[in-house]
Amino acid sequence: MTWAGIALAALGLFVTAQASPAAEKAAVTWHPAKPRVGDVAWVLVKDVLDGATVEGSVDGKPLTFFPYAGGQAALFGIDLETKPGAHTWRVGVVEAGREPRSAQGSVRIVRRDFHVERLTVPNTMVDLDPETERRALAEGKQLAALYRTITPERLWRGKFTTPVGSTGTGKGFGARRIINGQPRSPHSGSDFSAPTGTPVVAVNAGKVALVGEFFFPGRLVILDHGLGLYTAYFHLDTIAVAEGERVERGQTLGTVGATGRATGPHLHFGAQVAGARVDPTTLLGLSLID
Ligand SMILES: [Zn+2]
Repeated sequence: MTWAGIALAALGLFVTAQASPAAEKAAVTWHPAKPRVGDVAWVLVKDVLDGATVEGSVDGKPLTFFPYAGGQAALFGIDLETKPGAHTWRVGVVEAGREPRSAQGSVRIVRRDFHVERLTVPNTMVDLDPETERRALAEGKQLAALYRTITPERLWRGKFTTPVGSTGTGKGFGARRIINGQPRSPHSGSDFSAPTGTPVVAVNAGKVALVGEFFFPGRLVILDHGLGLYTAYFHLDTIAVAEGERVERGQTLGTVGATGRATGPHLHFGAQVAGARVDPTTLLGLSLID
């Protein structure tokens, strides 16, 4: 390229920049500002007109927005195996009668150290015969497919409640597990120990997406709260709801048991946001309340 060409190209850039005034940026805030690995975080796009289309992503994974506090918000689940550090996000807003707006940046995800847990269970629960192995694998795939299904309607409202009354907080989320001396997948839920027969309740409103009896989870109920949020209740003794049923926050789903791979009666409580395995107890403290 000649000097004249470079000068023209530079002028071209200058003219382009002059011709389109800098687009207005969308106002975006993260809650918490520095989320940890395993947290349910949320993003708020402020000052959005009714009927606006808001879309966005983190690390290229789409966010699902809903109207909230004069803007639109989306939950963002930080999977328990996410690398800590800066992760890039972007948001776009399209509204009638206004220039499209966008914003991008990065959110710093803070590391969290998980315990290493050594467990001893009957060998038949670890060294599976080929048929059981196939069954467990198929059940795992069925759950993963369900968690990736995003129902377009938001069914939950307000504060989340604890799934079992007065038994304290759950334990063991994210634990790197060594079962009978062999490293296994990290623990994707939080365990609430309680006597067999203790009622287990829905932590928020939703729809019963799955009732079943699976090899590892035992008797289970999965609730779909809409927009990619699911909660899971494993090892139940009895089940009081049916697939497809709508449930309210606090409604009894069943009772605590020790079905499936369990060392004793407890509730394994899990949550996923768009397929990210998150600490379900962070839902209980979610600062997005309406
Ligand atoms: Zn568990």
